[in-house]
Amino acid sequence: MSTLEIRDLHVAVGDKEILRGVDLTVRSGETHAIMGPNGSGKSTLAYAVAGHPKYTVTSGTVLLDGEDLLDMAVDERARAGLFLAMQYPVEVPGVSVSNFLRSAITAVRGEAPKLREFAKELKSGMDALSIDPAFAQRNTNEGFSGGEKKRHEILQLELLKPKIAVLDETDSGLDVDALRVVSEGVNRFRASGDTGVLLITHYTRILRYVKPDFVHVFAGGRVVEEGGPELADKLEAEGYEAYTSKAASA
Ligand code: ADP
Ligand code: MG
Ligand code: MG
Repeated sequence: MSTLEIRDLHVAVGDKEILRGVDLTVRSGETHAIMGPNGSGKSTLAYAVAGHPKYTVTSGTVLLDGEDLLDMAVDERARAGLFLAMQYPVEVPGVSVSNFLRSAITAVRGEAPKLREFAKELKSGMDALSIDPAFAQRNTNEGFSGGEKKRHEILQLELLKPKIAVLDETDSGLDVDALRVVSEGVNRFRASGDTGVLLITHYTRILRYVKPDFVHVFAGGRVVEEGGPELADKLEAEGYEAYTSKAASA
């Protein structure tokens, strides 16, 4: 049982305050959706928790099983059991998917997996996602389609088995195929009950495939409304307007 606990988190980029007191608790086995209009600070939350140097935490705490994540370097956060989907978004020329994943596992576990065991893990992970075996030899992220990027992301999840996964579904570029991959992957994790998922999204469509246990509405850099899955349906019907005006007057 793991818990990610975000308390009164304030984050700035330069001298501009973007997050203005975020409180959120995610436990293993739970799926939380963060929804909100563009520019409300959803990605900032993910970057701050990940430890991106551009995002300065000005106050508040982030604990993973009681340990202070904000005090840790990025790789230490990963070792502590945190996974961020956009952690490795870059093209890695000359590094195959297979080598990339073995390095990622080595970084998280603190030792390199034996080649034969890794090959077995990789194969079963790829089979589960219906990934063509040739994919393992491609250069990481080079020319990946939206669907391939997502498959790679979920494959990382399968192999790294984090305690808490933060998935920032950037608001564009998720085609139906990619959506299905993410949904199936997330649903498999939920079934294991070992991973807590924080799914960040602008659109409600992914939540038709992944039913969240909790929905948090983000506006103006804070959580302005919370509820169960029915809140996502309400947002789909009514949009964010009521919340943006609420945030502006807060
Ligand atoms: P969302 O993911 O909800 O669309 P973001 O977290 O990306 O929102 O952005 C929230 C606000 O913070 C926006 O006004 C955006 O311009 C600003 N912001 C985010 N990241 C940066 C950055 N690296 N540099 C400057 N401004 C940023
Ligand atoms: Mg505050
Ligand atoms: Mg975003």
